[in-house]
Amino acid sequence: MQHPPTSKTARISEIFSSLQGEGTLAGQRHLFIRFEECHIHCEYCDELHKKGRDFTLEEVLEQVNLLETTSGPHSFVSLTGGEPLLYVSFLKSLMPLLKAKGFRIYLETNGILGKALEEVIGGCDLIAMDIKLPSVTKEDNFIGEHEQFIKQAQTKELFVKIIVSKDLFFPEFEEALKLIEKYAPGSPVILQPVSNQREGHEDLELMDFLMEMQKRGMAIHRDLRILPRFHRILNLR
Ligand code: SF4
Repeated sequence: MQHPPTSKTARISEIFSSLQGEGTLAGQRHLFIRFEECHIHCEYCDELHKKGRDFTLEEVLEQVNLLETTSGPHSFVSLTGGEPLLYVSFLKSLMPLLKAKGFRIYLETNGILGKALEEVIGGCDLIAMDIKLPSVTKEDNFIGEHEQFIKQAQTKELFVKIIVSKDLFFPEFEEALKLIEKYAPGSPVILQPVSNQREGHEDLELMDFLMEMQKRGMAIHRDLRILPRFHRILNLR
């Protein structure tokens, strides 16, 4: 991280208007604030190369107001990344200002930083959390962190996203679904085909694998949906 985030500045790579391309609200018009840094490195991540700059609170609000005027109305302001919860002191200042303007806040997070969530959960209207399977991310196993996180996150409107590749190790997937079923039984789970050089839905073998995972997974958690990244299919940002 180039400068530690403060309550007044944060490293942001882009602020833009587009369709929400993932999850249960796919197709809605959202205003995205993309924070630059992440504390983990998923093998498939295509966001970490996006370099940002320091934005002040005033600059963010100015951009948000401009986009709302030129491209709005937007259903949500989506805080995404990178990992937005790395910027918790900035979020604590920003969220009330967005709320005061009538925006609803969508937090898209890797679902690991439970302590940070605790500080800003009051400002969130919807939480989209990941559960990261190490067989897919090639990262550490964060199941303990995900458990702490989901206990809190389920107090809000919540859905969980799990990225699926053909490397997925079924016992990890099973453990994740059991965790969701235990703490958030009513929350939808999105199975998203991993994207590398091309979008996951273009790989027919991967789609067959996803169908099989959905079938087996539904014995544990009923609401399992397969959804590719809609904005990529439409060639949107
Ligand atoms: S958690 Fe998200 S932003 Fe961070 S490395 Fe993984 S995919 Fe990229």
